[in-house]
Amino acid sequence: MQNFLYTSDVFKGSRYGRGHPLDMDRVWPSVELVQMMGWIEEKQIVKHGPAEIEELIKFHDIDYVLALKEAEDKQTLPEKIKKKYNIGIGNNPIFSEVFSRPATAAKASISAIETIAAKKADRILNISGGTHHGRKSEAYGFCFLNDCVLSILKAIELGFQNILYVDIDAHHCDGVQDFFLDNKKVNIVSIHEKNRWPFTGLVDDCKIKNILNFPVSEKFNDEDINFLINQFIIPYFKINCPDLLIIQAGADMLCGDPQSRINLSNNAYWKAISDLLSLCNKSLILGGGGYNPYLTAKAWAGNWVVLNENIELLDMDMNRECHELLKSLKWKNSRVKNGIPIEWISSWRDKKENYEISDEIISLVNEIKEIKKYEI
Ligand SMILES: [Zn+2]
Repeated sequence: MQNFLYTSDVFKGSRYGRGHPLDMDRVWPSVELVQMMGWIEEKQIVKHGPAEIEELIKFHDIDYVLALKEAEDKQTLPEKIKKKYNIGIGNNPIFSEVFSRPATAAKASISAIETIAAKKADRILNISGGTHHGRKSEAYGFCFLNDCVLSILKAIELGFQNILYVDIDAHHCDGVQDFFLDNKKVNIVSIHEKNRWPFTGLVDDCKIKNILNFPVSEKFNDEDINFLINQFIIPYFKINCPDLLIIQAGADMLCGDPQSRINLSNNAYWKAISDLLSLCNKSLILGGGGYNPYLTAKAWAGNWVVLNENIELLDMDMNRECHELLKSLKWKNSRVKNGIPIEWISSWRDKKENYEISDEIISLVNEIKEIKKYEI
């Protein structure tokens, strides 16, 4: 069966605004890298418009959605409304596409589930999705809408019984966990940096049946994530395989990302996703965090070949066109004040290095096994 990549033109030229961590291009460069490498047929790229209000209010409050729409139309909101909904405050600015951009990302995730449920595709990549902090009636952590929650709700509506959501973003998926606590049809797994915003996702939450949280330190390495995925997560869910897998593939745990202290290589990142896909053929891979445009665009472009079980394509040399595209991306960050590190823009894979599983991860796994009364 054919797999698809969902995107939209709204992501080209839309910016969160100067000085914002998302003042960069990530979505369209990922798609263009895939095209430039010849890894996709044109008919596999599907473009979407924004979701209808009716689709968004399956999770979000209507007054909040209407305020977000008004923020886009008028490019401002009354102060009281801004405060009430956290729109136009701090890191959730009012920008030109403040409604249509997140609504388009949400539409793609909802539509992906409909397409998979209708057996018109097995696997879909929605790079623009993964806005896991969004609340019912509040913008939070750069997320105005929560496409993760909306896609899971759509999956439940369409009859999926055993949905597994795995989030490998450096930040905990608080918006998703909060909404699906104790839901018998959904399991939520998150690997994230501990003691980092939003400061949720504690091990203690594992006492709740459908929650598995792995808060990890800045020393978390390539072997550690491989161990968590292959020695815990996969065997844990293999007993009762999910009928739908959603992976939030935030790329902010990669070495060189400014929003986490974790230093994974993209080799470990892609292997983790590839291994997780063995749990379920029906899968949706989302984007998420990722605040280094070069590393993020490569990571997400690579997810397309991972989704298609062609991970070996990532051993190819990067062609000139891709190199030039990456080189042209603008990023205002001290990490590039002396130029863009050549390894970020000249090869697909990071250098392979050897690591050992850290004691910290072994004791974390033992602690969680104890809570879950789980033996492998
Ligand atoms: Zn993140």
